[in-house]
Amino acid sequence: ALRGNRTWQPAWRSPVPKTHYDVIIIGGGGHGLATAYYLAKEFGITNVAVLEKGYVGSGNVGRNTTIIRSNYLLEGNNPFYELSMKLWEGLEQDFNFNAMVSQRGVLNLYHSDAQRDAYTRRGNAMRLHGVDADLLDRNTVRQMLPFLDFDNARFPIQGALMQKRGGTVRHDAVAWGYARGADMRGVDIIQNCEVTGIRRENGRISGVETSQGFIGCGKLAMAAAGNSTTVADMVDMKLPIESHVLQAFVSEGLKPFIDNVVTFGAGHFYVSQSDKGGLVFGGDIDGYNSYAQRGNLATVEHVAEAGVAMIPALSRVRVLRSWGGIMDMSMDGSPIIDRTPIDNLYLNAGWCYGGFKATPASGFCYAHLIAKNEPHETGRAFRLDRFARGRMIDEKGVGAQPN
Ligand code: FAD
Repeated sequence: ALRGNRTWQPAWRSPVPKTHYDVIIIGGGGHGLATAYYLAKEFGITNVAVLEKGYVGSGNVGRNTTIIRSNYLLEGNNPFYELSMKLWEGLEQDFNFNAMVSQRGVLNLYHSDAQRDAYTRRGNAMRLHGVDADLLDRNTVRQMLPFLDFDNARFPIQGALMQKRGGTVRHDAVAWGYARGADMRGVDIIQNCEVTGIRRENGRISGVETSQGFIGCGKLAMAAAGNSTTVADMVDMKLPIESHVLQAFVSEGLKPFIDNVVTFGAGHFYVSQSDKGGLVFGGDIDGYNSYAQRGNLATVEHVAEAGVAMIPALSRVRVLRSWGGIMDMSMDGSPIIDRTPIDNLYLNAGWCYGGFKATPASGFCYAHLIAKNEPHETGRAFRLDRFARGRMIDEKGVGAQPN
């Protein structure tokens, strides 16, 4: 039955690396591929290689729970994530690939007066930035999501902050769409090519040592997500980042019953339903540093408890699979898109557990920085030296919660 597939062409080439590129990007995840795509499309820079140690999509871009939103509170974050949302809204037409962008709405439940006040403040900040936000009362939420445990004595649900334009996107398709679009414009995507060292001459980067030999470059751009610190070690650069595991889960297929993305406000749990019917859910990071793409049972138990506290019927649902990805946790929960103390080395890191939704804006702003040596206006706040200057964008407890 699959005989027809024999004539299908690969969506991108598998080129032999050239000896030198104008720009090398380390990491073929969402951010590295989006950066290559916008470098070629927006800035006409096509002599670019993306070096990926595994296969395209083997990192967090293919491991996340696919949620997109722009419901942030703080000045630096809010316009940036809204730029990303606007790019998501036109992405499929832009790269001519079905990424299954689904603006099904994201609801953050609140369970106390204090939490309602905090969500009201966040919703107001969103509206002041032109982002949609609605504060829903208990009855409205009950009509939309009758299966939630409204009578839970410890965590009664009082309402929710909703962003209707938030939702989900098919994560693999994002990686494939950007990879195909970059390749079509001349970018070399080189898989199974691990960067093992960075060569410096006269204070500048001259190229990278890789598992496929030395490759020279004019500019070097890091987009290694959970491995950012190990790559930065190659030039003795210490980053304000710790790597942690975040787990995710998918259940057996069920008839459609959760139309939106819903996050629990009284514990670490969030859920949506995939088009195949599986519930896709997760919670908090495993609390210790690790570079392993797997997590521990204590977190599994915590996520299951929080899930059942929010939706009692979940106790009868079977989990099919769980997996982990490595999070590059920055100290204030916000990312870094910046030049580094080395002239032709650029840094894109610190996306924590929320970098999937940022993929288009991150690629767009990073490409601008690499091409022009000047930050894009919308990503200007994400400076590397903000920790030293005390200019933190501390939103880890609000907008940058898992998902
Ligand atoms: P990656 O896909 O990890 O890309 C980095 C790449 O660099 C990897 O492919 C890696 O192999 C490669 N690499 C590393 N070192 C080297 C080297 N030395 N040489 C060559 N290549 C190298 N975000 C959201 O917005 N919404 C969500 O719902 C969400 N849920 C999540 C759930 C889970 C379980 C996880 C793990 C993450 C989640 N995230 C979410 C976070 C999001 O996935 C990440 O922040 C984002 O994907 C990171 O950017 P990336 O796609 O470029 O990373």
